[in-house]
Amino acid sequence: MQVLKFGGTSVGSTQAIEQVCQIVANYKRKGTLALVVSAMSGTTDKLIQCGQLAGLQQEQYKSLLQEIEDRHLDTIRGLFPITMQSSLLSQVKKQLNQLESLCDGIFQVGELSARSLDKIMSFGELLSSWMIAEKLKQLGISAAWKDSRELIATDAQFGHALVDFDTTDHQVTSYFQHQNAAVVVLPGFIAASAGKETTTLGRGGSDYTAAIVAAAMDASVLEIWTDVSGMMTADPRLVPQAIPIPRISYEEAMELSHFGAKVIYPPTIQPVMNRRIPIWIKNTFAADDYGTLIQDNGEKTFPVTGISGIQKIALLTLEGSGMVGIPGFSKRLFDALLREKVNVILITQSSSEHSITVGVHEDDMLKAKVGIDSEFVQEIHDKRIEPLIVEKDLAIVAVVGDNMKNHHGMSGKLFGALGRNAINVRAIAQGSTEKNISAVISKNDVRKALNVIHEVFFETETRQINVFVAGTGNVGGKLLEQLQLQQAYLLKELGLQVRIIALANSRKMRFSESGIQLDNWKEELEAGHEMDLEQFMQRVQSMNLRNSVFVDNTASETVAGVYSTFLQHGISVVTCNKIACSSEYNNYKKLKDLARKFNASFLFETNVGAGLPVINTLNDLIRSGDKVQTIEAVLSGSLNFVFNHFVNGASFREVVKAAQDEGYTEPDPRIDLSGKDVMRKILILARESGAVLEMDDITNHSFLPAGSLDVKDVPAFYEQLSVHADHFNNLLKAAAEKGERLKFVARYHNGEASVGLQSVGPQHPFYQLEGKDNIVLFTTSRYSAQPLIVKGAGAGADVTASGIFADIIRTVR
Ligand code: ADP
Ligand code: ASP
Ligand code: MG
Repeated sequence: MQVLKFGGTSVGSTQAIEQVCQIVANYKRKGTLALVVSAMSGTTDKLIQCGQLAGLQQEQYKSLLQEIEDRHLDTIRGLFPITMQSSLLSQVKKQLNQLESLCDGIFQVGELSARSLDKIMSFGELLSSWMIAEKLKQLGISAAWKDSRELIATDAQFGHALVDFDTTDHQVTSYFQHQNAAVVVLPGFIAASAGKETTTLGRGGSDYTAAIVAAAMDASVLEIWTDVSGMMTADPRLVPQAIPIPRISYEEAMELSHFGAKVIYPPTIQPVMNRRIPIWIKNTFAADDYGTLIQDNGEKTFPVTGISGIQKIALLTLEGSGMVGIPGFSKRLFDALLREKVNVILITQSSSEHSITVGVHEDDMLKAKVGIDSEFVQEIHDKRIEPLIVEKDLAIVAVVGDNMKNHHGMSGKLFGALGRNAINVRAIAQGSTEKNISAVISKNDVRKALNVIHEVFFETETRQINVFVAGTGNVGGKLLEQLQLQQAYLLKELGLQVRIIALANSRKMRFSESGIQLDNWKEELEAGHEMDLEQFMQRVQSMNLRNSVFVDNTASETVAGVYSTFLQHGISVVTCNKIACSSEYNNYKKLKDLARKFNASFLFETNVGAGLPVINTLNDLIRSGDKVQTIEAVLSGSLNFVFNHFVNGASFREVVKAAQDEGYTEPDPRIDLSGKDVMRKILILARESGAVLEMDDITNHSFLPAGSLDVKDVPAFYEQLSVHADHFNNLLKAAAEKGERLKFVARYHNGEASVGLQSVGPQHPFYQLEGKDNIVLFTTSRYSAQPLIVKGAGAGADVTASGIFADIIRTVR
């Protein structure tokens, strides 16, 4: 015999049922085929709702009944030719009438017992299985229908009845002995007590029905036909990159299903495993896909077979010095849980025996608390142990694999991945067989955790970076352009999938879970919502995606003010905005500390010298133990442009104007000419060198005539430059007479920093500095005779964007 079970989606519509019949018709049968079916998808939920509403004496149950009726009658109409319909419709209607009177009765008394609920739920499977048997007959297949309540015997625990295997095996074998039909269709999920009352096997229990029949008949295979192509490495609804597992052992399948892989109902495996019957999970809608074969150990490619998660977990902790060294405490704890019928999902005990923690379903939390506190009432009164501590809103994620024990560092890899993504682990359990490592985490972190774990164990090939961009002006626009051009290369060569999840400018913001299309980001952004930084942050946090990076391409103080919130949520920050790093030292320090504490990156290479590797070079020197003695640098592309063009005969005012017109200065050129921008940059380099310095500590030898900055606006400032033309010409003349050129230089030496205009001779490395280039000389303990020099274009949207790009990649490398 072969046993095939078809799930709710597989029988959820006319087309799906036709698909099932097709599979059955083409099936290579060896002896009788037992076909176990679920209710049409969603029907059991609706039936439960009906019962509950009727029990609460709410009339709405009638409209739900009507929906159930319509769906089944429509299915009949879709499946059968008109000539056959009337008799079939009236038979279905007869069953639906029984259901209706049952619900009416419950409505009258205003109470829904577990017994009545099982009766109500049974209609889902009764109807679907009957329709399918009729359809098979109509197709000319020799089919019979059998009520499973005459085969599967249970106790009277309604809702979750326990199977009486002796009676069941006997009933099943004797029935099939005298059955000649090629295909026998059975309703899954339902059974009967010794008193012949309808019982059910627990939600998802049709799988179990099929396993019980397969075991009783010693079938050659049990096939579970569902809506996915097998048991996958993770729940595909939460982890889109999950892939089907071709082969898996019984034990692994059991662990995965116990820990939440809904594709197979956990009790299903035991009866068939005892008889070594293989289970094959197949996709009704992609019948040619291999699916998953569950049997005794096979070859393994990955050390981990799959990962899964259970939601709605509560942790119960019993703690107190009175427990240490005294035997019997845990026995009493578990006895109390047993008395309350609480299922224990996870256990951990510290080796000091000072506390013991168990994980249970949240629905069981209160009765567990009552039961345990009353068990230990005396000890609690004597203050030898504390009242039970209960924590909720938790979840369990579990990594499963028979092969884990043969690999080192599995838990390191697991907890490392969780840690790097700022996922806090509340409790851990690892069985000594090393088939399962479980971690208890906050329920809000489940999706993220499953994805990061999946990434480290199964996607060695690719990693995803999720980017949230604020600022789409010159630099932001270039960045998006570069990302778009480079996406394919990054994926192919580095296995990096960079996705822009959000874009924002001062007016609009736009989010897309699957990533914004970069070829028309402008239109997408325009179609977004009004920008609100607070909402933007909330959204980024609640999405809680792995490898999240916030990119600030603005010059806004408000945006710089929110970095700490991002870092505290483990979200990396990449910025070309200098405000945060040149703010008060304590703020700068706080951001760096937060990044370390929450395992996020805080990267700002473009704060100094645009895309030039200035800060990274400095960091590398310091990390490798070098000591910075002096930094000398030309750090303002704008001022360099100005002084390169201010040659004999030129007017200083005209040169500044030209620099502004070509976009080399800030809109207000005073920010550049005052030296403030350069002060910020040398401050950041000094801090990165280890100095504790504030803006006020930097000496500014301004080359501007006194008072020239204190004017009301930019035109007035230009007026000042004309009025003081002689002052600037004299500076130039003095330098020219010595054969030197003017450069605006920043200097850091032994903890002190200054900026100012300086004239340099032809031998000086600054002398030849062209256009808007920057140059930085690092004199250190190791580079003492000759400084280490970094030189190149230090301004411009293109090079700044490429520096930001490199920082984004650095967050995951
Ligand atoms: P059926 O109605 O056929 O019994 P279920 O809904 O009970 O189907 O189970 C199949 C569903 O289980 C899939 O659609 C999938 O969303 C979910 N699922 C959760 N975890 C896994 C996993 N590890 N592998 C495959 N499916 C999973
Ligand atoms: N119809 C039942 C349920 O939804 C049983 C099953 O589908 O396996 O729980
Ligand atoms: Mg199921």
